Amino acid sequence: MIMGKNIDELRQELDEGVVNACDLFNSAMEASSKSQESVNAFVSIMDKCECSGGSSVLSGIPYALKDNFSTSGILTTGSSNILKDYVPVFDSTVYKKLKEAGAILIGKTVLDELAMGGSGLTGHTGIVRNPWDTTRISGGSSAGSAASVSLGIVPFSIGSDTGDSVRKPASLCGIVGFKPTYGRISRFGLFPFASSLDHVGIFARNVKDITYVTDVLKGYDELDMTSLPDEDIKYVDTLDKDIKEKKLFYIKEIVESVSTEENKEVIKIFKENIDKFRSEGVIVEEVSFDKKLLECLYPIYFIISCAEATSNNSNLTGFIFGSREQGNSPREVMFNTRTKGFSEMIKRRFITGSYILQRENQERLFLNAKRARRMIVEKMNLLFKEYDGLILPAGGIAPKINPDEETDRLGSDYLLLDNHLAIGNFGGYPSITFPMGYVSNMPVGINLTCPQREDASCLNIAFKLESVIGIKDVCAGGENIG
Ligand code: GLN
Repeated sequence: MIMGKNIDELRQELDEGVVNACDLFNSAMEASSKSQESVNAFVSIMDKCECSGGSSVLSGIPYALKDNFSTSGILTTGSSNILKDYVPVFDSTVYKKLKEAGAILIGKTVLDELAMGGSGLTGHTGIVRNPWDTTRISGGSSAGSAASVSLGIVPFSIGSDTGDSVRKPASLCGIVGFKPTYGRISRFGLFPFASSLDHVGIFARNVKDITYVTDVLKGYDELDMTSLPDEDIKYVDTLDKDIKEKKLFYIKEIVESVSTEENKEVIKIFKENIDKFRSEGVIVEEVSFDKKLLECLYPIYFIISCAEATSNNSNLTGFIFGSREQGNSPREVMFNTRTKGFSEMIKRRFITGSYILQRENQERLFLNAKRARRMIVEKMNLLFKEYDGLILPAGGIAPKINPDEETDRLGSDYLLLDNHLAIGNFGGYPSITFPMGYVSNMPVGINLTCPQREDASCLNIAFKLESVIGIKDVCAGGENIG
């Protein structure tokens, strides 16, 4: 009934009375329960339909929410043992807005523990598999949110993106993933990971659906001190603008950096698409970027995010909320709680973060990383004076699941192809990944990153390029429904 349908199609069926919200809820619930064995996208699946009405375009439309958004009265685990029984007492702004809009929550989705990681392998309820090939990873950290949309269970879902956690799994699962400008969507009630990099992000199977959801979620929120002022514009009204003469660039060093045969194929598809864009009148130029600086992307990201994460998560002690272990002193309770509650990957990041934040290391590591981040952002801002956007492949194809392998490991092309998406977080730029083709029968995505606050332009360009590429509303397995 719902499988693979987009928002426009479901809206029409709801408005014509062919189905009602509870029918959609029931069918999504059934489909998600069924998919658990093979994909495992959900931490919890709702058992009752909370149809709150609403008159928005999302009213009655089912969706899935990453399990690091607070939902009052509903289990919210961050996919970590330390929060395995945690039930929040307040709503995140994202959840509240979706409830008010009448969208129907069908489940909370698995993430890499506390949103750290990019594989979907580290959640406390088990690994999330890629719906296109269950022997491969879904990518993360918003693993279950990406998988649920890719499976066609829901037309959209919500994730969070600190380095690439929406835009990378979107690419690996063959769907669209967008994070708007930093501050555009309130983060109130999203478990903080690295506050200077954290964004709310959205998954869907086409750019228009992403835009509908962004329009509902964006806006000033006094509960988030990084929130941007309201804009008097609905992005969906500007989607169809002509993009002839728009100027995009790609970074030569990233495109030339690939070493594996599969990644070379990714670049080939990327270049074929660039040719198509050019023949539609879009200007795409190759730009050279300091390679040394680009090679610092991952180290900069890792230093800043581990430091901020260590500080942000210092409230997970077992005293205020979350699971608590026994001990003879407060120190011992905390020690036991954290030892048992966090996986090895998290502990490694917190130890790294504590080291970086030690007084004697701060200047050399933390402050230098922030300086290098600024150098990259300044260079990007200069380029954005001349160009409307940066276009690049979103990464390689989904790797095979290998349980013996490190979960925090880096791919062979990690320095450039697999990590450039963090540029979007460094500068708080709106950034969107959408499907561009297939390599070894697996989907690969293209990414467009635009100047700060140019969310409308970013969505408009992506909407047009999506139709030039011609892949839209595709569910896992390649069935084109649109
Ligand atoms: N994969 C990155 C990491 O390991 C990004 C995570 C994210 O964006 N939440 O931290």
